[in-house]
Amino acid sequence: MGTQFRNVGIVAHIDAGKTTLTERILFVTNVIWRMGEVQDGTTVTDWLPQERERGISINAAFVTCRWKDWTINVVDTPGHIDFTEEVERSLGVMDGVIAVVCAVKGVQAQTESVWRRASRFRLPALAYVNKMDRDGADPERAVRQISERFSVTAVPLQYPIGVGKDFLGVVDLISRRFTGMDESAFGDVNSQVVNELRRHEIEIEIAREHLVECLAEVDDTVLGDYLGGRESDEAVLRKAMRRAVVKRRIVPVLFGSSLQNKGVAELLDAVGEYLPAPFERAVQPEYTDETGCECRSDGAVAMVFRICDSPYGRLACVRVFRGIIQAGAIFKDTRTGEQKRVRAVWRILASDLEATDSGETGSIVALEGDWSRTRTGDFLAAEGVCVKSQRLHFPQPVVSVNVEAADGAGEQRLEQVLKSLLRDSTTMQAHRIPGTRGWTFSGMGELQIEVLLDTLDKEYGIKTKAGVPRVEYRRTIQGRAKGEGLFEKRFPNGVEVSAGVEVEVEPLEQGKGCKENFDCLRECLPENLARSVRQGVMNIVNAENSGFPMTDMKVTVLRVFSLKGEALEPALVTAAKSAVENAVSAAGCCVLEPVMKLEVNTPSDTLGSVLADLNSRHANVLQVESLAVGLSRIVALAPLAEIFGYASSLRSLSAGRGEVVAEPASYRSVLRTKQDAQENKVKNDG
Ligand code: GDP
Repeated sequence: MGTQFRNVGIVAHIDAGKTTLTERILFVTNVIWRMGEVQDGTTVTDWLPQERERGISINAAFVTCRWKDWTINVVDTPGHIDFTEEVERSLGVMDGVIAVVCAVKGVQAQTESVWRRASRFRLPALAYVNKMDRDGADPERAVRQISERFSVTAVPLQYPIGVGKDFLGVVDLISRRFTGMDESAFGDVNSQVVNELRRHEIEIEIAREHLVECLAEVDDTVLGDYLGGRESDEAVLRKAMRRAVVKRRIVPVLFGSSLQNKGVAELLDAVGEYLPAPFERAVQPEYTDETGCECRSDGAVAMVFRICDSPYGRLACVRVFRGIIQAGAIFKDTRTGEQKRVRAVWRILASDLEATDSGETGSIVALEGDWSRTRTGDFLAAEGVCVKSQRLHFPQPVVSVNVEAADGAGEQRLEQVLKSLLRDSTTMQAHRIPGTRGWTFSGMGELQIEVLLDTLDKEYGIKTKAGVPRVEYRRTIQGRAKGEGLFEKRFPNGVEVSAGVEVEVEPLEQGKGCKENFDCLRECLPENLARSVRQGVMNIVNAENSGFPMTDMKVTVLRVFSLKGEALEPALVTAAKSAVENAVSAAGCCVLEPVMKLEVNTPSDTLGSVLADLNSRHANVLQVESLAVGLSRIVALAPLAEIFGYASSLRSLSAGRGEVVAEPASYRSVLRTKQDAQENKVKNDG
C-alpha cells in the first residue's frame, strides 16, 4: 500500500491547548526534538513573532509528520474568530478534524463556531479532551457537552484513569490496554497504575459495553455479534468504528494531557485508524473539461490554501485533490487563466522545508513558483481540467478604523505593504479615504485590526496612528420595487444627451449579501455602455461615494431607454445610480447594525457586576451557566457598537480573570435593536 495520508485540522477555543498539542505531536513523531512551551515563546507552528508574543496562533500553518504507516499533515487553525478566514481555508483542504476541548472549561464558543463550519464540509471528527491533569477536570461533563453542543453522538473511546494531579493515563476500551506517560521522558510509571486499574475494572467494562452498544446501533456486523451474544473481536470493532466516524455517525472521544505528554500517541493512532483518507472526503471538487462537459483528462488539480514567504521565496501551500504535482510541470490558475510553472515541491516540517519530487493525490505540499497574482482559494489545474470550485464562506467585515502612517517614509511604503499583506484576505480590507492621506481598515473584530497594525509596526517598521473603531452599518430593503433613473442634459452648444435605466430590487434572505442580474444588458448594449450601467449599480450597492453598503438584496436591470447623444458612459452611470436609489427608497430602506454573539467566562463571584455591565450595554443575555471551579459562562447578543473595548472592561470587572469571545451573529435593524433594549430595560426594571 502506498503512502496513506491523513490531512487533519486541530480546532479549539483559544487556550484549550491546540499549540501545545501540535508541539507534542511533532515531538512524538520526531519532527523536532525540543518541546516548545507556549509560555517561553519557542513553539514552531506559530510563525509570526507577534503570534509568539500574544501566545495565539494566527496563521494556519501546516506541518507534515510520519506516524506508523501514515503521513499526517496537521493543519493548525487559528483559535480566534477574528481569523475565521484562515479557518475556512484550512477546512477546505483537510479531511478530518480533531476538536480539542478543555477538560475544565468544556466546549467553548470558538470550538462550537468552527465546528459548525466544519459541518458544512461534512468533515469527520475526533474529540480530544485536554488538560486532564488540571484541577476541576470533568471528563464526563466534557463528553456530555460535546454531544449537546455539536449535536453528535460522542462516545468515549478510552477510559481515563484519574483526574487532576491523579491523572495517570487512559485505557483503550477496544483493546482494554492501558497507556500512560512516556516513561523515557518523564520518569517511572508506578504501581499506583496497577491498583487503579483493578479499582476501575467494573467501570471500564461498563464504558466498553456502552461503546459496543453505540457501534451496534450504527453497524450491522457489530449488531449481529451483539444480538448473538458474541463478543466482537478487536479488528471488527475498529473497522466498525472507522466506518461510523467516516460517515459522521459517531465522534469518538479521547482524553489526555498534552502538557504531560499523556494520550498524544494514542490520539495519533486514532487519527490514522479512524479519520478518513483523502479519497474518502465527502465534499470533493467537481471537474469538467473546458466546455463544461464531463472531464476526460485525469490531469492534476490542487487548491491553494495559503501563500507564505520563505527563504526560498514565495510558496503556495496546496492540497492536491487529484493526480500528481511535479516540479517543472505547468498548471493553469483557474481563476486568472494564467499558466504557472512549479519550480520546486516542498514538504513543510514545522519551520523547516524538505525538498521532494512531487506531491501526490491527497498530499499537502508547498510549491515554489511565481505566485504574484495567485490568491488563496485558487485552483491550479493541468491542461484540459476545469474545476467547479467549492465556495468558501467569508463573513462581511463589521468594524472599521481610520488609520494614517505616522510619518512620510511610512506613508510611501504603506500602500505596497498593505497590498502584499492583504492580498489573500477577504475578511480584512484596506481602502484609501479619497482626498486624504488616510486609510480605512475594516475587519471582523478589533483584534484582527490590532494585529494588522502590529504587523505593520514590528515587521515593516511602519508606525501608524489609528482612530477609534466604528461599526460597519449596512442598508437593506423591506419589499420589492422598481425604480427609474433618467439623465437628461442640453449643453450650451445645443447638443443633447440623455440616458435612462430601469431596475428592480427585491429582498434576499438574511446573510445572502447582494446579487446583481445584468443579463438584459448583454442583448441591448455595446460592452462599454453595459460596463457603465454595471458601474452605476455597483456604486450604490457598495456605497462607493457615501452612505452604507447594501446587503440582502437582488438588483435586476430591466431595461435601458431614451439613449440620445454620444459618449454616453457618464450619463449611464448617473442614470443607473439614481435608478437603484429610487428603487431602494420605493421598496422601503432600513439601516442594519451588526449584532455580536458574546461568550463570557468569568469567576462566579464577579457574575453580578459582569451581568449588570452587559445590561448597560443593551445586551440580550441568552444563557448563564455555572462551570466547575467557580467559573460562570454567559452567552449574550449585543450590538457591536456597545461592546467596543469590552475585553478591557471585563478584565477590570473580573480582576483580570474573565475572558470574552465575540463573533458576528447577524445584522439587525438599528431601530429594532434600540426597541429591544428598551423592552429589556422595562422588563429588568420591573
Ligand atoms: P491554544 O491557544 O489552544 O493554542 O493553547 P496553548 O497550547 O497555547 O495552551 C494554553 C495554555 O494551556 C498554556 O499555558 C499551556 O501550557 C497550557 N496547557 C496546554 N495543554 C495543557 C495540559 O494538557 N495541561 C495543562 N495543565 N496545561 C496545558
